[in-house]
Amino acid sequence: MNAPDLTTARAQSSAVSPIDHFIGGKLAGSNGARRAQVTNPATGAVTGSVAMGNVVDVNAAVAAARAAFPAWADTPPLRRARVMFKFLELLNQHRDELAHLITAEHGKVFTDAQGEVTRGIDIVEFACGIPQLLKGDYTEQVSTGIDNWTMRQPLGVVAGITPFNFPVMVPMWMFPVAIACGNSFVLKPSPIDPSCSLRMAELLRQAGLPDGVFNVVQGDKEAVDALLTHPDVAALSFVGSTPIANYIYETGAHHGKRVQALGGAKNHMVVMPDADIDQAVDALIGSAFGSAGERCMAISVAVLVGDVADRILPLLTERARALKVKHGEQLDAEMGPIVTRAAWQRITDYIGVGVSEGAKLLHDGRPFTGAQAGAGCEAGFWMGGTLFDQVQPHMRIYREEIFGPVLSCVRVKTGAEAVALINAHEFGNGVSCFTRDGNVAREFARGIQVGMVGINVPIPVPMAWHGFGGWKRSLFGDMHAYGEEGVRFYTRQKSIMQRWPESIGKGAEFVMPTSK
Ligand code: NAD
Repeated sequence: MNAPDLTTARAQSSAVSPIDHFIGGKLAGSNGARRAQVTNPATGAVTGSVAMGNVVDVNAAVAAARAAFPAWADTPPLRRARVMFKFLELLNQHRDELAHLITAEHGKVFTDAQGEVTRGIDIVEFACGIPQLLKGDYTEQVSTGIDNWTMRQPLGVVAGITPFNFPVMVPMWMFPVAIACGNSFVLKPSPIDPSCSLRMAELLRQAGLPDGVFNVVQGDKEAVDALLTHPDVAALSFVGSTPIANYIYETGAHHGKRVQALGGAKNHMVVMPDADIDQAVDALIGSAFGSAGERCMAISVAVLVGDVADRILPLLTERARALKVKHGEQLDAEMGPIVTRAAWQRITDYIGVGVSEGAKLLHDGRPFTGAQAGAGCEAGFWMGGTLFDQVQPHMRIYREEIFGPVLSCVRVKTGAEAVALINAHEFGNGVSCFTRDGNVAREFARGIQVGMVGINVPIPVPMAWHGFGGWKRSLFGDMHAYGEEGVRFYTRQKSIMQRWPESIGKGAEFVMPTSK
């Protein structure tokens, strides 16, 4: 069948498009009546109407995935890899189209959206190596005439539940690895920016993926709960906020599923007195305000050690004021709008909380308006970057995830105090330390209670073959996303011990077999 092409033209048009499910290799309307509006956050215009899947839709998607699983699992890894290679080629051809689609529904600037697609493509490149990754272990002659080997086999139907902030990259942390391992997949993307999921489904189909191996059910909690309790779903990968990650982990485990649930964050960047201050300023501005702070690896706290605060804060304030906040399609834009009006309200409220808690507001992003962002943006969800000094660990703006363009600066006397502060925080996703001292850097990396560490790197998102995951309440489950951890998550080990007839016929053995 020829699926409608969700192209840039659609993403940029003012018409309201229906956004439905993708089940068994084709677009599928919803069985329920519930729909939600999809909005361009730069303009405030409603551009889409997304189906909100219910249990019937989920059952249809899981049934399609279940039917497709045996043949796909039986397909040699090399042939599965060839589908991934073709998908990779198509993604490279359609990279900008996907990036425009991201900007239209998420709002992030186009160049950043291109970066997001590229980081997703990295995972597909990794998944192309699946024959090598699935090689098992083999021991010849574990006992006389007996060999033992292990193999990893796919789980069955697996599901992914993803957040709004990376509508291409985060699903691609999951499905390329899951599918390459031989599983079939049901994606439940965020209803805020759902169009990319359908475009990826179409590209997978064009790449030759058999119908039913990849399915999309749009929606919210109703669809998620149907996946969490469905007896045919073997495993769930989740990325989103901590309360929901916790809920997914507990509920999924209760229903006997393998679960990895990546949660929220409060990422610190420590600036040591010996750091290159100009470099640290660039790093803080880019990582706090890039993508409007709506990244799980965004830096939201600067920990300024010793005399750094007095040297760096005037520079940070100047740069926060000069931030180019514009429609994401403007190529010189540094920051786009906030994703929804509700998120804009939450962030605005947090800035008010910071002021009432006694933090010092060095630059206030709230007065920035859509009219300042450019013509046509008046009804969008706009704010500038906000900078706080004198933030204290007991304040809500320090403890809680704001998930917006708000940078809180905390002053400490020593590096040891900085490490203790970070280790006491409930989140442990990413962290960064800027210093010129190798020993300080080494000890920081060893002692910090955080899953991903940057040394003079503000956003240390690991490459495809290293795996991504935080510690503490930033990750529920044992295994990180993608990389070899991803391959382990999406497969289970089987151990085979074999001997051939000439060794049989010695009578029953009643003692534990040992090597003879
Ligand atoms: P969210 O938790 O609101 O939603 C994530 C997913 O869960 C969506 O698909 C959503 O539809 C679904 N969902 C929402 N409420 C639910 C409920 N009550 N029951 C079941 N499902 C529900 O997150 P978001 O606002 O889309 O994304 C931002 C959050 O994601 C931030 O907290 C951010 O730190 C986090 N995040 C974490 C990582 C990571 O790798 N740790 C990466 C990206 C985003």
